[in-house]
Order: sequence, then C-alpha cells, then structure tokens
Amino acid sequence: MDSNREHVLAIVTSMDEYQARVLRTAQDRLAEHGLPLLVHCDGPLARGAAAEMLVELLDNRPPSAVLNVNSLDAQEQEALSRLLDNVGVPSVHVGFRSPHRASIWGDNAGGMRPLLAHLLDEHGARRVALVRGIAHHPDSIAREQVFRAEMAARDLPVDEDLIVTGEFLPEPAYAAVSELLTRRRDMDAIVALNDMSAISTIAALTEVGLRVPEDVAVTGFDNDLAARQWPGLTTVDQNFDEQGRVAAEMLIEQLDGTHVSRHVMVPSQLVVRGSVADGPGSPAADHACAIEVARLDKGQLANQDASLALSSALTRCWTVPQVVDAVATHLGRLGMRRWFLSLYDRHAADRGASPHGSMVDTSTAHLALAYTCGERLDLPADHFASHQLLPSSAMHELEDGMLVAQQLAVLGRPLGFVLYEQTDGSARLTAMMHTEVSRAIDAVITTHELEGHAHKLERVVDHRTRELQAEVATRLHAERELRRANAELRRLAMVDGLTRIANRAAFEQHLETTWAAQRAEQLSVLMIDVDAFKAFNDHYGHVMGDEALRIAASCIEDSVHDPQDLASRYGGEEFAVVLPASGVAGAAAVAQRIRDHLADANIPHATSPVSDRLTVSIGIAVGCSERHTCPEELVNEADRALYRAKEQGRDRIVIATPEDSPVDSGTQPTARPANVALP
Ligand code: GH3
Ligand code: MG
Ligand code: MG
Repeated sequence: MDSNREHVLAIVTSMDEYQARVLRTAQDRLAEHGLPLLVHCDGPLARGAAAEMLVELLDNRPPSAVLNVNSLDAQEQEALSRLLDNVGVPSVHVGFRSPHRASIWGDNAGGMRPLLAHLLDEHGARRVALVRGIAHHPDSIAREQVFRAEMAARDLPVDEDLIVTGEFLPEPAYAAVSELLTRRRDMDAIVALNDMSAISTIAALTEVGLRVPEDVAVTGFDNDLAARQWPGLTTVDQNFDEQGRVAAEMLIEQLDGTHVSRHVMVPSQLVVRGSVADGPGSPAADHACAIEVARLDKGQLANQDASLALSSALTRCWTVPQVVDAVATHLGRLGMRRWFLSLYDRHAADRGASPHGSMVDTSTAHLALAYTCGERLDLPADHFASHQLLPSSAMHELEDGMLVAQQLAVLGRPLGFVLYEQTDGSARLTAMMHTEVSRAIDAVITTHELEGHAHKLERVVDHRTRELQAEVATRLHAERELRRANAELRRLAMVDGLTRIANRAAFEQHLETTWAAQRAEQLSVLMIDVDAFKAFNDHYGHVMGDEALRIAASCIEDSVHDPQDLASRYGGEEFAVVLPASGVAGAAAVAQRIRDHLADANIPHATSPVSDRLTVSIGIAVGCSERHTCPEELVNEADRALYRAKEQGRDRIVIATPEDSPVDSGTQPTARPANVALP
C-alpha cells in the first residue's frame, strides 16, 4: 500500500475483548468498501515513543479516516483531538460521547436499570456491594450513578463500606474484593461494573468458601467474558458488534460526504445467567452452557500452554535470530494469522552517548520475521522507513483486512514494532506475549552490546598493558645500561690508567672496609717502591719507564692469591698491597713472591746502584690492636719500614717494629720479628 492508498486508522490503547470485537465488526463492514483497517495499539498518548509512532503514522501515511475506540482519560483524549484536528480527516469515536465529533457509545443507564431491577426486585438482594471501574472513567461514573439512583428509588441505603474500586481489571478487582471479604461477608449481592472484575469477584468469593449465587449473587457488564463462566454471569450486553458496525457506517458516510448522524447511543440489553438465580435453571440450558464453558476453557488452556511454552523457549535465547525462531514456532497456537516483527536500526553511539554502545534510530527499521497463515516467509531484511511499517516486499499485506501495529519497548527504550492479525486466542495473552518478546529482544541486544563493550574494554586494556610492558622493558633496559655504565665508571675510577691494577682510591677503600670488618689483627699492608727509578727513567726514557711500571704492577698482582687481597698502585713508582688475613708470615711470603716475580721478569737496570736488574724495596706492617687505632697508622708504619729498607741498601723487605709506630708503647711484641731484612 503506498501512502496515498486509502485506509482507516483505528487508535486504541489496548486490544482486549471489547476493542477486538468492535474493530472486527467495523473491519467486516469497511472491507465491503475496500478499506483496510490499520490499528495503532499503544499505551497512553501523552508520553513516550508510542505517541511518536502515532504522530509519524499520521504525518507520513495519512489515513482516509480515523476510528478511535476509547479507553483514554480526558487529558489523553484532548491530546488525541488536537492531533486529529491537524490531520483533518473524518473521525468517529466509539465508547464515549464526544461533543465535537461523531461518536457512538453503549447505553449505560439502559443496561444498568434492568440489571438492578432483576437483582433487587426479582432476586430480592438488599445488602449490595459495588465494584467500581477506573475512578475517572465516564462509563464507571455513569454506571455507579444508576446504581445509587436505583437503590434510592427502592429506599435501600447504599452502604459506602461495601463500595470498592476494581479498575475494570482482574487483579485489582480480586485484591479489592478479597480485602472487603476480610472485613465483611454480610452482603447478599455484588454488582461489578464490568465482566472482568465480576469474574475476579466470583473467584474471591469462592476462595473464602462463599457460593455464587446461593450465598452471594454477582453481576457484570459488557457480556464479553460472561458466557465463559460457570455459573454463567448475569450481565449487560453493550452490543459491541452493533457499535462496530455503526462506527464503520458513520465513517463510510463521512467519506462519501453524505449527512452523518453525529451521536449514536447503541441500546444495551440485560442478559440473565446463573450468577443471579432464583431457583433451578433449565437442565437443557445448563447443559448447553456447561459444554460451551468447557469448549472455551479448552481453547483458553491451549492458548495458555502455547504462551507458557513460548516464555520458556525465550529464556533459552541468546541471539535475536533465536528469539525470532522461538516466536515463529508458537504463533499458530497463539491464534495469530499474520505476524510481522520489525526492529529499529541501531547505530554505533559516540563514546559515552549510550551505556551499551549503540543508539536506536526509530526512523528506520528492518524486517526480522514475516509470518502469514502458518508459514514463515523468507523475505529480505531490507531497511525501510519505520512509518511505512513494512518493507516494499511485504507492503501488500497492509492492503487487506485488519493489522494491529504495536511498538515493542522495554522501560521506555523502543526496540521495534509488530504488525499482527489475530483470529482467535486471548487478547490478554497476546499483550503478555508482546511484553515477553520485547524483554527477550532487549535482553539479547543488551547482553550482546555489553559483551561487545567488554571486549572493546579488554582490547583497550590489552593494548595499554602491552604499551606499559614495552615502556617498563625500555625503562628497565635503560636502567640496566645506566647501572652498567655507572659500574664501569666506578670500576674505571678504581683502576689505575697506566698499570690497569687497582688505584690508590681502591686501596684506601679496601683498607677501610677490611678494617671495619675485622679491626687490626691479621691485617697487613705492604708498601712497595721501585728502586732508583728516577735513574731508570733518565737512562731508558719515560716510555720504557712506563713499561717497566706495568711489568712491576703485574708481578705484584700475580703475587697475591687470596680474593680478599688487593694489589694497587699507590702513586708514581710506589705500590701498596692489602692482605686482610695473612699475618706476618703470609705478608712476608707475598713480599718475597713479589721480589721473585720481578727477578723472573728480569728487567735490566744499568744505572741502578744495587743491581743490574730492576728491584723493589718493601715495607710491611701487620695490624696490632694495641698500636693501631685506624688503618692510616698501619700505612704509615709500613711506609716507615719501607724507608728503612731504602736506608739499609734497597732491594729488600723490612717488617715494621713497634719503633715504626707513632704510639710509643715502650714494649716490644715478642712474637714479632724485628727489622727482618730478607735478601
Ligand atoms: P729510590 O730508590 O730512593 O726510590 O729512588 P728513586 O729514583 O726511585 O726515587 P725518586 O722519588 O727520586 O724518583 C722517582 C721517580 O719515579 C721519579 C719519576 O720520574 C719516576 N716516576 C714516577 N711516576 C712515573 C711514571 O708514571 N712513569 C715513569 N716513566 N716514571 C715515573
Ligand atoms: Mg718513591
Ligand atoms: Mg723509588
């Protein structure tokens, strides 16, 4: 159907028995004139995307006429009137008297009066309770007024304590009557202002052991569910079929431009059944009624089974296609002849715009399921403007019969919409099914998006972790390099540039550390000086002098074996050795090894006054806790011993005696050899 094609748009806020029957008869009549009926079914008009969908439909697919089957409050009705004024097409309202528009309504007074006469005069009820409908609802108000007037006309007092509000709905009505029964059970009749609340009233009475009609008579209004009861419910038939038929007639007359009877009240009729009974009914009628009730119950049970099966199948769905599959397999048993599910398109949201990472765009949709007459159609999931309701491949479905359009939403978040045609089955179960399908779709989309979001976060965290790891590795590498460079620097600072053995700083540090660890005992210091080295330089030159120093250094270093020992260049042609654990004999042995190694090196020294080879003089000081209070004293003592070695003719070893000490103790250690000069 293109947007210029003629059709009638019906606007309802729910699709229960009443709306379904009015619309079905209206549609039969409209079909004779080639007018398909599209029903927009959604909650209150004043809020949310549901109203938005209606505005979109009116703007983009203007109908030829509008049929409004009322269950709106005054404010919503006002909003709808303004909308319709803008569209400017013929309209008819069903269910209430509209001052400015063609309207049809059932005769509340004409139904209530004979009902009350039957209950009060024929049945003799005296203490009558009332179950109201929705407080503001004009039908509820009108029916209650007649109730009060009829009671007054018979001088029967209305006991206000026996008046409760059931909101025209099963659960509130059941709760209200149950509460009343905890306080009072002295009523002999309960007048409920629609059938749904009358059925709940019977259930509440039965629950506390009261019999209907023997203990309490019950009446309803509407005659939609009344025949499904056992005993059958005495009620008022509003003649919904007639209301629907007249509504269609009035629309067609307006479209033809002929005169329209603007306000029509369709007569109501009392229907007497077993819930208000004076005596035994006719067995044949009871039998027929029982069979009918059983037949309807069976259908209802099958319907409920299908609904439960669908609910349980939906709990096992993880993806939208699984939800769609689950729904498709249950549609037939739920009395659906046609069912089309379209989901609004989603776009990746800007960061932070939506907690789920996508935003719904209600202006475009794609078909997720097309089902007609027991068959699932394999249609392409083309994207289309939402106000077109179907993609072009399925558009012809709108040209025929009656389709109900209903948005699917969860907590105000629109998901998409369904278009359906139901041939039988419960309107309440259909409403429930839409809620469940909405929840299932919302759950899988939300889960999917949250998973996507979680993966994205994981990737970000992974990436960041890798970056950090790389950063840490680089930093560690840099730190290692720096440590290595520092160590090298430190090492270089401790090494003598010419001889490559430890320098004086290293000597002093090692001496200090060793001293701190063990004090004086056993710690020896050797001071070594190359003999007549000035003369060597003068004779062989500085380059040869340097080479001679290098050889002397390696001879000295090769002479110390213990890892705790340290050989160093003290400065110029002087060397020093620290022997932490040698004792006098060990120190003397090291000194002698030095002289031997140097002799083996056999460096000629033509101008030496003591030998024709290069020689050294060595002074040794061995630690003594009585004489040495700091390591410098040990060094000085070794230096003095060296001085004496020079004095005594060079090329020898001298071990320090107490005289070499700056502290004059006056006593000589017995164990220590005095001025031992080794050859
Ligand atoms: P003694 O036997 O009394 O020790 O006499 P000596 O000549 O060795 O002592 P003196 O202190 O008079 O001379 C030390 C010489 O050592 C002077 C200096 O030229 C030389 N010398 C010091 N450091 C170096 C060096 O690094 N290389 C060279 N080639 N010579 C050095
Ligand atoms: Mg010297
Ligand atoms: Mg010298």
